[in-house]
Amino acid sequence: MGVNRRHFLKWGLGAAAAAAPKLLAQTATPKPDPKAAAAESAGCLVDTTLCIGCRKCEEACNRRNKLPRPEVPFTDAAVFREERRPNDKAFTVVNEYAGSPSPDQSATKQTHVKVQCLHCLTPSCVSACIVGAMVKAKDGAVVYNPKVCLGCRYCMVACPFQIPAYEYDVILKPRVRKCEFCADFAKGTGADPACAASCPTEALVFGTRSTLLTLAKNRISQRPDRYLDHIYGENEVGGTSWLYLTGRPIAEVGLLDVPTYIPAHKTESIQHGIFRYGIIPLTVYGALGGLMWYNQRRAQKGQPPDGPGSETTKGGSHEHE
Ligand code: SF4
Ligand code: SF4
Ligand code: SF4
Repeated sequence: MGVNRRHFLKWGLGAAAAAAPKLLAQTATPKPDPKAAAAESAGCLVDTTLCIGCRKCEEACNRRNKLPRPEVPFTDAAVFREERRPNDKAFTVVNEYAGSPSPDQSATKQTHVKVQCLHCLTPSCVSACIVGAMVKAKDGAVVYNPKVCLGCRYCMVACPFQIPAYEYDVILKPRVRKCEFCADFAKGTGADPACAASCPTEALVFGTRSTLLTLAKNRISQRPDRYLDHIYGENEVGGTSWLYLTGRPIAEVGLLDVPTYIPAHKTESIQHGIFRYGIIPLTVYGALGGLMWYNQRRAQKGQPPDGPGSETTKGGSHEHE
């Protein structure tokens, strides 16, 4: 269905009315301790000192999520020449960094680091999404609902790990794409996100967050020569469901240096300040509606869309029924 301005504003006002109670409810809800709440939710430990860079995890993720085959085959190590980030066609990537993965220089020569959504305990992407298209599920996964997504890409801007990607080359109904933690949570702690199930070296361990933290601390105390005394994700951005062990400083192996405070709380306080005055939601949705209408016009003229995250824009629009 084509999107015209009237349809758009009508839809935008309807969305504003539907979303306002959720946003006002957020204002009134006291914040629980996310770490305590997440202790028994699912997580994954990435031990970069055990990763051999085989990219089996990438291949398994690609298959599980029915993503297109990559330009560089999964068996081709030439892919490591450039540092990569996850994108709309690869929800996880493995990068290679020169230098021993452990402080004692005893292991292999390179460090390999798998990157994907870390499933933050208090996700900025969820906080930034004004229509609730991003949701933190009780099991620990941060999942996405394309049916309510506006296409505003605020989640992409908000993510401190630069994870969500947009289907810029999809003309009809482009989605935000990222790892949605495809574990079969009904099986408890069975090794079943596809990536962890395929890992031949146990560099990826699936389990509850509390179990993984205990495991990581044990590994550090038993092999202080091998590991830095830092579990990346234990405290970063208030804690994440995916955790990392490294033998080298995080800055050397591509893990982003993020704060330990929860960025989402800052986003929320701005959002709550805005919504305190009631009439502003319509202004926000009106602005978003205008942006989408404008981008639709640009797409029709063959021009790239404008707005958040548009610097890499190739074209496209977002339609709603
Ligand atoms: S949990 Fe699933 S979606 Fe996420 S990186 Fe692993 S295989 Fe991909
Ligand atoms: S890493 Fe980014 S996309 Fe993933 S949950 Fe955290 S804020 Fe959201
Ligand atoms: S499957 Fe395991 S060892 Fe292979 S690249 Fe992925 S995390 Fe590393």
